[in-house]
Amino acid sequence: MLVPKMPMRKLVRIINTLRKMHPGKFHGTIVQYKPFPILIGTILSHQTQDPRTIEAEKRLFAVYKTPQQIASAPLARIKKLIKSVGIYNVKAKRLKQVCRILVEKYGGKVPTDYEEILALPGVGRKTANILFTHAFGRKDLIAVDTHVHKISNRLGLVNTKTPEQTEFALYKVIPKRYWGEINDLMVQHGQQICTAKPKCYKCALRPYCCYYQKVVKPKKIPGSFSPPKG
Ligand code: SF4
Repeated sequence: MLVPKMPMRKLVRIINTLRKMHPGKFHGTIVQYKPFPILIGTILSHQTQDPRTIEAEKRLFAVYKTPQQIASAPLARIKKLIKSVGIYNVKAKRLKQVCRILVEKYGGKVPTDYEEILALPGVGRKTANILFTHAFGRKDLIAVDTHVHKISNRLGLVNTKTPEQTEFALYKVIPKRYWGEINDLMVQHGQQICTAKPKCYKCALRPYCCYYQKVVKPKKIPGSFSPPKG
């Protein structure tokens, strides 16, 4: 659904506010900006909360560090190591398939061609965009994961049903110079403040946020909306 286009001044304030609130870098995972861990970590993250993904990444990479090692590892061992993530049975098979392709077709490296990444089993635009943004430094893609989808809708930047719709809607709303950092900023915001049950009382985006203005603020009883103590 179309939303009235947000004035540019307001949009810039939102991005500057996010930058001030989250000056760190993509610190929610152990990916370290290397293509292979980012690819594997993002496959693990599908339908899974961040702490469970991080736990699985740590356990997996403590034992198997390369595509060759994962491709030749026993499936049961991979399943056991990544058991904290959703649909781990499917993901374990997928990891082995992806790693086998990396070994057999790309000499054990992650390909740098966007279409070749999309052709890997279980890899969609979210994974591809995260990989190209964080590992290959592309600035012309917006990686839309669950945090970016949720926050973009709450802020009123878009009115969409799926992350893919959000990605294409955001290209129309956000100037290109900001595309490369949107995922980084919103992932941190989604992990720390705009969680499933948003902590609006500590969010500096309240003046610009549709969800806060339309849903949270009207319910607020005067004097009751203060940070919890302790
Ligand atoms: S005001 Fe609340 S809903 Fe809006 S971005 Fe901040 S935490 Fe999220």
